[in-house]
Amino acid sequence: MQRILQPGEIEALDHIDFPRVRLPQLATLFQERAARLRQLAGGHAIADYLLFAARLVEAQHHLASRAPQPAPLEASVAQRASAHGMPLLPAAENLPPGWQDTLRALLAELQGDAAVPASLSTVFTHLAALDGAALDALARQVLAGGPGREDLAAAPLVMAALQVGFATRAAALPVQDVPFAEPPTICPVCGSAPVASVLRIGGAAGGHRYLHCGTCATEWHMVRVKCSHCESTKGVRYQGLQNAQAEPAGKADTRQAVLAETCEQCHTYRKLVNQEQDPFVDPVADDLASLTLDLLMGDTEFSRASGNPLLAI
Ligand SMILES: [Zn+2]
Ligand SMILES: [Zn+2]
Repeated sequence: MQRILQPGEIEALDHIDFPRVRLPQLATLFQERAARLRQLAGGHAIADYLLFAARLVEAQHHLASRAPQPAPLEASVAQRASAHGMPLLPAAENLPPGWQDTLRALLAELQGDAAVPASLSTVFTHLAALDGAALDALARQVLAGGPGREDLAAAPLVMAALQVGFATRAAALPVQDVPFAEPPTICPVCGSAPVASVLRIGGAAGGHRYLHCGTCATEWHMVRVKCSHCESTKGVRYQGLQNAQAEPAGKADTRQAVLAETCEQCHTYRKLVNQEQDPFVDPVADDLASLTLDLLMGDTEFSRASGNPLLAI
């Protein structure tokens, strides 16, 4: 028999008991990602690139621990974002102060490292020669996903420096200042596209799907039945490497740690990495290492919804 809820119980039902937003944990974010990249590189067809990416992310870890604490957010910024359903600090208009120093330190740490492809030496020279205004312009191009051909190889290095600055700032935010942004398919902190989504385990977030920002590493919740690109709830399916046939969401062979989530409405796909299958999955690292799945998807009607920040193509 159904009983009538008391006012206090109704309020309790209204309260979400898992985090809507997970801000990055700087102490472990880059360290765990680097370890995952090294693990995935073993015997991999693109092992050299994954090892280079691991070295890049290790440098990010060193630099994040030295990054200056960002200035506290002005109350009016949070109020305006919340009132208009806008991201808190849209990335291109809010480049992190000091990101250019981070880039120079990153280049200094990686210069001559055995894991860095020799072909990048001209890129290092090119970046070192750019003045502040040119670097900011390049950063905005990279964030918009459209660096020119000559800057393509520089993009992962620029993005790595920007990620340190953006993640440092996101990590310092009071979580209650993060607005509900529209559309909910963009990062509520910096307005960037998610690189992939992740099914988390453990703690209050366990069993929930989060979209992972490729720029500031903030994660925000989205129910699994929705397309992470157009929010459609119709025609969302999963496709993995081990079962090349698409299966409906919820009925997929979820024994695979990385699946492509496809949408018949917007004809895009984005990967879902599943901690229930492998607790060490990382949205950026596992997306990068599952290029074979992207090749398989290249033969379908679905195109990638957004790029990987560490990939120079
Ligand atoms: Zn973000
Ligand atoms: Zn869609």
